[in-house]
Amino acid sequence: MIQVKDLSKSFGPNVVLSDIDIEINRQEVVVVVGPSGSGKSTFLRCLNLLEMPERGEITIDGRPLLDKHTRIEEIRAEVGMVFQHFNLFPHMSVIDNIMLSPMKVRKRSPEQARKKGMELLGKVGLTDKAEAYPSSLSGGQAQRVAIARALAMEPKIMLFDEPTSALDPEMIGEVLAVMKDLAREGMTMVVVTHEMGFAREVGNRIVFMEQGRILEISSPEQLFDHPKHERTKEFLSKIL
Ligand code: ATP
Ligand code: MG
Repeated sequence: MIQVKDLSKSFGPNVVLSDIDIEINRQEVVVVVGPSGSGKSTFLRCLNLLEMPERGEITIDGRPLLDKHTRIEEIRAEVGMVFQHFNLFPHMSVIDNIMLSPMKVRKRSPEQARKKGMELLGKVGLTDKAEAYPSSLSGGQAQRVAIARALAMEPKIMLFDEPTSALDPEMIGEVLAVMKDLAREGMTMVVVTHEMGFAREVGNRIVFMEQGRILEISSPEQLFDHPKHERTKEFLSKIL
């Protein structure tokens, strides 16, 4: 589903990604972990071209992302992303936030977009918040709306960049539960998170990054119980 070959990216003299190689299969959940500054967010952002890689290849569903004929808007529509800060539009109701892109980009009618939006709100357990404004939501609710909004575009892949790190502890579970459901339904997902319980339970493979490189790709059991690298061990000992 996603093939990444020799992906590299620098910001000025700062090499942030070097020679990233990974293939991600359809319906797979890949969890990316690693120290701060190791390039996790940049890697995710390259997958939907929020950052332009300078070298390497990314293919999604057979389509080369860096080909000059590829339309960035199309890729963004197919690869949904959820960030640490949910970035909902404050002046729009929850349902309007969700309906906006499907109408603008996917050319859905307002009726279609609303119907789908209400379905998705049901899925994230927030049907009663359709007409609410983002400022009246808890962090966990806002993040679930952000997930519904991304899903409204009917993406083939979902990227999550630390979706629970800005949340109070009691709200983390409700967001992880939505992500778990999504994984169970077969969504292909790449997730940067410090939630190791989620990584172990839901992740098919764990990627450990350091200094812009992938040091290790393993099953959760392998990575958590028998890490191959000293650096992986050291990192895990700090966060577990
Ligand atoms: P964290 O766990 O703190 O979120 P990360 O693993 O997501 O870290 P990135 O945000 O990908 O790391 O950053 C990797 C490196 O790239 C860092 O050194 C960062 O300062 C640098 N960097 C990221 N974005 C930019 C940018 N837009 N311009 C310049 N440097 C950047
Ligand atoms: Mg980051």
